[in-house]
Amino acid sequence: MKLSDIGEFGLIERIRPVLSEDLPPYMLGIGDDCAVIQRKGSRSMLVTTDLLIEGVHFLADRISAYELGYKSLAVNFSDIAAMGGEPESAFLSIGLPEDTGIDWLDDFFLGIKDLSGSYNTMVAGGDTTQSREGIIINFTVIGSADPGRIKYRSTALPGDLICVTGNLGDSGGGLIILLGGMDENSDPNLKTLVRAHHLPRPHLEEGRLLAAEDGVHAMLDLSDGVDSDIRRVMENSGVGAEIEIEKLPVSPELRNACSRYGWNHYELAAAGGEDYCLMCTVEADSYRTIAGEFRKRFNRELHSIGHITNTGRLQYMEKKRSIDIGKRGWDHFRK
Ligand SMILES: [Mg+2]
Repeated sequence: MKLSDIGEFGLIERIRPVLSEDLPPYMLGIGDDCAVIQRKGSRSMLVTTDLLIEGVHFLADRISAYELGYKSLAVNFSDIAAMGGEPESAFLSIGLPEDTGIDWLDDFFLGIKDLSGSYNTMVAGGDTTQSREGIIINFTVIGSADPGRIKYRSTALPGDLICVTGNLGDSGGGLIILLGGMDENSDPNLKTLVRAHHLPRPHLEEGRLLAAEDGVHAMLDLSDGVDSDIRRVMENSGVGAEIEIEKLPVSPELRNACSRYGWNHYELAAAGGEDYCLMCTVEADSYRTIAGEFRKRFNRELHSIGHITNTGRLQYMEKKRSIDIGKRGWDHFRK
């Protein structure tokens, strides 16, 4: 059997029993957006790490050094946001080919600094090494959260509404543009989508507001797309889900690009990936109040896109009828 037979999630299931079983009760290990370590005092420690490899996660000739630095850190902040935490320090390990330009590196660090500075997070260490092929970037971010307020993937309940904190599919549209070699400067809609792909804003404030609500049960960040990420909630919480495809929030820019270039906006919104907003499940009775607070604070909707069921299955609905959406979210290693 090869790695391609089991996929990324199969790989994680093989690692867990060998390296992450028998953890003490004050630790949550593999399987959520962050590890959670209970410390003495009032705050829990959150730890998350992400590895980005040139050619797999980014195309060095299509993303600027500034954007790459920013995005490498932003995706980690997004995992801290998913638990309702605050980032505190970051550690950067990089593998670089020896012909990497110094100007490129200066811009890369500037992208990191602009994001870390806006959240008062220090880059406190790391490692550098030579890479024989391509750029390799690994960030580890340490954060903290109030232990009573941390939200997990495993706590969704049947009847909960499934909600998202931002538009879906812009980043997936941006990726099509980049992979297809389209000129984003030819159309302002395309520029917006590529920007969403390169400069995702971590929803840290949204995460903290939602984490403070008892009516919010489960939460995670949308890295692989609703279709893939809701399955993580289903597996961890032992529930099913019904998604109403017309309720997936789509930006006007994505809608315009979809009608102009013949893309399917449902498919992009459900499975485009790398949205980096948050998905949470909210007790139905609390939704109005929580969505009202969300609107007051952020001047945007907390979009309800479906609900948690007890069927164990994922079902998509369009005009109250069950439909099949074709593509599934991104899974590393699977063809
Ligand atoms: Mg995540």
